[in-house]
This record gives sequence, C-alpha cells and structure tokens, in this order.
Amino acid sequence: MELVIARPEGLYCPVGDFYIDPWRPVERSVITHAHGDHARTGNRHYLASSASAAILRARLGPDINLQTLPYGQRLPHHGVTLSFHPAGHVLGSAQIRLEHGGEVWVASGDYKIEADGTCAPFEPVRCHTFITESTFGLPIYRWQPQAKVFADINRWWQANARAGKASVLFCYAFGKAQRILHGIDPSLGPILCHGAVEPLNRVYREAGVDLPPTRYAADVQKNDPLLRQALIIAPPQAGGSSWMRRFGDYSDGFASGWMRLRGPRRRRGVDRGFVLSDHADWPGLLWAIGQTGAERVKVTHGAVGTLVRHLREQGLDAQAFSTEYGDDEDGSPAIAQVQP
Ligand SMILES: [Zn+2]
Ligand SMILES: [Zn+2]
Repeated sequence: MELVIARPEGLYCPVGDFYIDPWRPVERSVITHAHGDHARTGNRHYLASSASAAILRARLGPDINLQTLPYGQRLPHHGVTLSFHPAGHVLGSAQIRLEHGGEVWVASGDYKIEADGTCAPFEPVRCHTFITESTFGLPIYRWQPQAKVFADINRWWQANARAGKASVLFCYAFGKAQRILHGIDPSLGPILCHGAVEPLNRVYREAGVDLPPTRYAADVQKNDPLLRQALIIAPPQAGGSSWMRRFGDYSDGFASGWMRLRGPRRRRGVDRGFVLSDHADWPGLLWAIGQTGAERVKVTHGAVGTLVRHLREQGLDAQAFSTEYGDDEDGSPAIAQVQP
C-alpha cells in the first residue's frame, strides 16, 4: 500500500486525500515547515505543527485557513492517523508520521541532527517507509560541530571590530539567522539585523527562544561609530544592493552548508565562508535513516542518485521521489521570500 505518491501538485496521500508540502495550490495541505519552498500560498486548508503557526502566519499571511497539532499528538483523518514529530531544522519544523492498516510512513521534510537550541531537536521515528531529504547527500558533506563554527564567526567579528570595520554576515533569514544569533557571543558588540530578519527574530523570542538584543540596521545612521563594532545579519539578496552602502568599509561573510565547496564561495565573492547548515550532513542522513528502521526509503530533493545508490548497496529498497523543493541554504530569491 502506497501511503504517499508523487503527483504533479506534490507528495500526495491517496487514503487521506491530502498533500504534503505541495508546490501547486491544493484543497488540503499538510506542511512540514515554513520555508518558502515547502509552505506555499494558495492552499484552501493548512495543517501544521503548533510550533510553526506563528511563522506560517508571518510568511503566508494572517488569514490562512490553518489547523495546528502539537508534536506527538495523533489526528485521525479518513482512516489515516497523522502526527508531527520534531525535525530539528527550523522553529516548528516537523516530520509527518502517517499510519494506516498497520503501515507506517514518515515524511521527513528538511531535518538536521545536531540540536541547536532554537527549535525542538530531531527525533527519529520508527517506520516501514521513510521519505528523506538529501540536500547534502554526498559523502563530502561532513559538518564541524556548530560550537567551532560559532567560535570562527566570533573571531572574525572581533578582528573586524579591532580594525574598525563592520562585519556583514549573509545567511538565510528564517532559521539560519536566528541560530547564528543564538550561537554567537553578543558581548563582542552591537548586533543589527536586516528588515527581512528582524520580524522573524520577534517570532522566535515570542516562542521562548533566547536571542540577544538586536536592532533594525535601517535605524542606524550611516557613519554612526557603532557600525564599526557591529555584526550585521542580512539575507544574501541584500548583498550588492544600495542597502549595503551605509556600512562603509566592511568585511562580509556567508554562512551556508554550500560554503563547504570552494566554487560557491568564490562565486559569492565574500571575504569569509562559514560552513553552517540546517540540514543533515552525509553521516547524519545515514544515521537518521538507520534509526527509523525503515526497509524502504524514498529520497527527495538534493543528491538523490548518490544516496539512492548507497542505500541500495546497504540492501535497502531505495527510490528517488521527484519533487520541486528548492534549496534553503542557497538564498536564491525564488525561495527566500524576502520581505521588505
Ligand atoms: Zn527547509
Ligand atoms: Zn527542503
């Protein structure tokens, strides 16, 4: 029994008659998390984790028809029992567990193994079939512990401040930005945020996540001496825009899993690349898949072919699932949904 199939609109559950993270507008959608390529506008009905409600409303509009469910609570729907389980990716992110006639499927959405203090940590869920992402599904992707990355960012910021230069750090506005704010040392200087980041900080604080004080970068005058000590968090789209002029002489950096590769770092033209991802690395993907106990694995968005081949060599029934999910570490405008 196929509990989830790929349809032109998105991943579809025929028994329950709903879509998971559809990329075209549908009647009933179940949403894993609020990144723009998973949570799109135009669905008649949304079901999501309670922890993601405020972010979804902030991004899709206050009037979406949204029903929420706390992590772990079961909801019967057309003979399918549905529940959300933490995915450790961003605030509110969930894996979706579906059970019908003794069969259990789990759709991971995006997930990260290392707990980061800004969202509920990833919890493996036992299942027969696991639908996994594979954004960084190549053996070259192995993350350093985040404490080391934050120490690198702190050192870079401190060195710039000593040289009287602002530090502009580009990163994805939802999730990555708040994780960085939570992880860095706020005693090093003032922290300013782009207008796409600050409203999301507010949602995280209201959810009880500990973030240091931040200010709108736009409220600070050009030539204000505090800029020379400041860390500025901005989405990649702000790079090269007139918004940057106020910072005078600055050093810039980019935080993303793609910084593991030299090519993208050079292409961005930034001074520093920090390898920090909100997705599982190669060992993390394999660990998570093993923890589910699944004998069948469907692989979505990312390095699908390599992971499928590797899992088959391990004796698993692995297949590719073609989806239209994007890349929330890349920050391309189509996905990032930067707000003014
Ligand atoms: Zn995501
Ligand atoms: Zn994704």
